[in-house]
Amino acid sequence: MGNRVGIALGSNLGNRLTHLREARDMLRGLVEEDTLYLQAPVYQSEPVDCSDRSPDFFNTVVEIDYIGEPYDLLMKTQGIEFHLGRESVYEVNAPRIIDLDILYFGNEAMCDEILSIPHPRLLDRRFVLQPLNEIRPNLILPGDQITISRHLRHLESDEPPLTLVQTTW
Ligand code: ADP
Ligand code: MG
Repeated sequence: MGNRVGIALGSNLGNRLTHLREARDMLRGLVEEDTLYLQAPVYQSEPVDCSDRSPDFFNTVVEIDYIGEPYDLLMKTQGIEFHLGRESVYEVNAPRIIDLDILYFGNEAMCDEILSIPHPRLLDRRFVLQPLNEIRPNLILPGDQITISRHLRHLESDEPPLTLVQTTW
């Protein structure tokens, strides 16, 4: 038995939907075929704290059943980022072909220079909470007492509403 792991996918450069699909297919390649896989719709969001020339993001969240350690998975998600052509050094919040962030990893809670789980900015970001709410509204993160759907309802954020791009992709 593995851990249920949520991963946020984002792209705001080139063919954004294609990048999300390629990353999704590679993530699915990491897991056993008969395990439960969940995927949220794709949304479009305006970049947060990015330069004006930064294109809109396509964002989504998937949940997989992962057998292995959090650091193993980070190496694999970073491998996928580089395989899809992400440059190793970006300016802060610069446009990117693909960004894969590990949101939660079963009941793990950890924080060091390499990996913070649950992801520290998960609950502040509509572009994460809204897709996550579509697949795991009743999830309560380790160390928390409030469901994802409740966090989303009470989110105080000046982010504009997300636009639905595609439900199935
Ligand atoms: P961001 O996603 O914040 O825009 P990056 O994708 O460039 O920035 O990530 C920078 C670093 O964040 C990675 O090298 C990784 O070691 C670290 N990191 C810490 N926690 C996580 C996490 N939960 N998921 C993914 N990366 C993480
Ligand atoms: Mg990242």
